[in-house]
Amino acid sequence: MSARPTLLITRKVFPEVLERLAPYFDFAANQDDDDWPRAELLARAADRDALFVTGSDRIDRELIDACPRLRMIATGTVGYNHIDLTACGERGIAVSNTPDVLTEATADMAWALLMAAARRVCESEHWLRAGKWGRWAFDQWLGADVHGTTLGIVGMGRIGSAVARRARGFDMTILYHNRSRAANEAALGARRVELETLLRESDHVVLVVPYSRETHHLIGARELAAMKPTATLVNIARGGIVDDAALVEALRAGRIVAAGLDVYENEPKLHPGLLAVPNVALTPHIGSATRSTRVGMAMLAADNLVAFATGAPLKTPVATA
Ligand code: NAP
Repeated sequence: MSARPTLLITRKVFPEVLERLAPYFDFAANQDDDDWPRAELLARAADRDALFVTGSDRIDRELIDACPRLRMIATGTVGYNHIDLTACGERGIAVSNTPDVLTEATADMAWALLMAAARRVCESEHWLRAGKWGRWAFDQWLGADVHGTTLGIVGMGRIGSAVARRARGFDMTILYHNRSRAANEAALGARRVELETLLRESDHVVLVVPYSRETHHLIGARELAAMKPTATLVNIARGGIVDDAALVEALRAGRIVAAGLDVYENEPKLHPGLLAVPNVALTPHIGSATRSTRVGMAMLAADNLVAFATGAPLKTPVATA
């Protein structure tokens, strides 16, 4: 048996990250551009002490049961809804995630989607590329004001707070909804309200809560109907927090004016209606996708794995139930 722990890395990662791991692990990394099929992932993971995974790897009880040696899972994401923490806790498997390093880049992207949706950036670009721009007109591509309006942030945590800080530069009134009061609300000039109030009063709504049983379809037909017909909705959080079918219907019927989405139910497959409605800006889960941020995320996952291998405390552990 090898003296060093064995590690499976389910995605291509940056060379400097592999260099960081090399002294501590016997590792195998996916070098393909495709995910391994589920059966292959289970087979490859079966004899590993540690896994380096991402948000699209389903780390459920079946997988954990298939890996009798598994002691550590490092996910290169801040969200960990893809990992069965109860099953990990029962087996004494440690879990780490990557908070903070992606906060600012993801907040930037929330703003990119907010601006794109409000000011019809994608919609008008498609029209322009289609050769339809013949003249300038006063009433052409009228969007929604962002400056001086009310922003509702659902999930005033690390990323929500970074979104709020940016909103101050736009002279916005900031509402937020959390289960508990955010300690930084005074510094952010933000007011905590019930979800219903936030939806009713906001001109722009940004979702940045973790996905959980509690937040599944947090925004459905009823919530969309409660929003202003002039409002926009941004989901930078996780697929499944919005009922995508209900959103398609609301966008089609003009119950809200536009949306900006980075994440989807069943991604990378999209609800076909989302591809057909024009008033939605769509990006392929790239909230954290800047080079420095993605290297930072992968390196933090590696640091946690090295801590595991050397018996040091994990840098960013996730509590297992
Ligand atoms: P965080 O610091 O833990 O913030 C989450 C916030 O959501 C907290 O303020 C929490 O407050 C609130 N919250 C949790 N459950 C709630 C519920 N049921 N109802 C209302 N509020 C609730 O997390 P973060 O670092 O900001 O990240 C947030 C999420 O963004 C991640 O979990 C991840 O899924 C997503 N994300 C997406 C991308 C992307 O690429 N699109 C990138 C990074 C992160 P209370 O506990 O007081 O409720």
